[in-house]
Amino acid sequence: MSEPVIRLTGLTRSFEQGGETIEVLRGVDLALAPGEIVALLGPSGSGKSTLLQAVGLLEGGFGGKIEIAGANASGLNADDRTTVRREAIGFVYQFHHLLPDFSALENVVLPQLLLGKSRDEAEAHAAELLGALGLSERLTHRPSQLSGGEQQRVAVARALANKPVLVLADEPTGNLDEATADKVLGEFLNLVRSQGSATLVATHNERLAAKMDRVVRLHEGVLS
Ligand code: ADP
Ligand code: MG
Repeated sequence: MSEPVIRLTGLTRSFEQGGETIEVLRGVDLALAPGEIVALLGPSGSGKSTLLQAVGLLEGGFGGKIEIAGANASGLNADDRTTVRREAIGFVYQFHHLLPDFSALENVVLPQLLLGKSRDEAEAHAAELLGALGLSERLTHRPSQLSGGEQQRVAVARALANKPVLVLADEPTGNLDEATADKVLGEFLNLVRSQGSATLVATHNERLAAKMDRVVRLHEGVLS
């Protein structure tokens, strides 16, 4: 087997709350092969977002080991975490988190400019991605001028813009009605499949989880 894109070994995380320690992650082990799409299933409060924040190198404070593309990422300082995040990881959140003052196109262009692409190249790629998501007629719209499903499609395009080896999605369709959620998730999965990004999708929805290659369940701080 080729080297996993991520490997978590004995990942732990606890929070201090009102003098008590809540152990949210109690030793999570997980490996994702290149291109593998895995559903992270668990009820609200089970620690899905906490786990994605760890894998996404969004904060420190975790015990255990995180390896990304074979490199140990657990001991990195904040600057180095930012570099790995920019180059290797794409995020989709439940709420789109698009920049409100920029057009759909510009929201997808910006992460590419951060990695040094030319504006022409970045715009062409952004238009291509947004076109694949059915948004060719919406390139100049701002987020507030888009429907919820369209906003999430732009967020998907932004996450995939730099062809990251790893995509992390935290309830990416949790804010959409069922029919729209199905459509957007299907388009998202098609795109990550065609691009070959390993993908971890947190959801509490069994039906959506069944569309992925594999399901892991977070229960009492460990995966089964
Ligand atoms: P999920 O995404 O599965 O709904 P979360 O990862 O958001 O679950 O939260 C898991 C548990 O960790 C919850 O009990 C939550 O209250 C707690 N938690 C998350 N973040 C913090 C924090 N910054 N401080 C204290 N407790 C937290
Ligand atoms: Mg969550």
